[in-house]
Amino acid sequence: MLDTRELGRRPGSQHEVTKTVPAPAELGIEVLRVPDGSPVQLDLRLEAVMEGVLVTGAATVALEGECARCLEQIDDEVDVTFQELFVYADQRSHAAEDEEDGEASRLEGDLLDLEPLLRDAVVLALPFQPLCREDCPGLCVECGARLADDPDHAHDAAVDPRWAGLAALQDPAHSRKQDTD
Ligand SMILES: [Zn+2]
Ligand SMILES: [Zn+2]
Repeated sequence: MLDTRELGRRPGSQHEVTKTVPAPAELGIEVLRVPDGSPVQLDLRLEAVMEGVLVTGAATVALEGECARCLEQIDDEVDVTFQELFVYADQRSHAAEDEEDGEASRLEGDLLDLEPLLRDAVVLALPFQPLCREDCPGLCVECGARLADDPDHAHDAAVDPRWAGLAALQDPAHSRKQDTD
């Protein structure tokens, strides 16, 4: 909750706010989350307009999750930006259009609740498939080794499936008994 009292209700008055707040619980998506209580750095500009208070802001949040390809732990951070008009609670006429779709954010007295705004901005900024790095090669399909740790990783048995039959004839380890007997 952010107090807007310092702005008064004079259209045009502005107020910059820089503060750090603890992250709310369950912020983010299942595979990439903002740790509960981790510091959220906020840079906000509050601007009084006729109908309410226009909030323009940026936030930096920490992220943790797992790479979608190799399951490696991801520790990262992301910067998000947002802008929203918070309508004065007693202001009805100007907000009529917004109210139809139920989207209007409202001031609660002199307070405005940034949390829904922050949630939307963070979720929009997150990738559906978080990766430890953009070109993560994932895991070896044969043994599950993390290929990023071992770029030359290979198995002798890894043979083009079109030649697998031929290789089996040449490799005693893979040839079936009835073939050799
Ligand atoms: Zn990865
Ligand atoms: Zn392997």
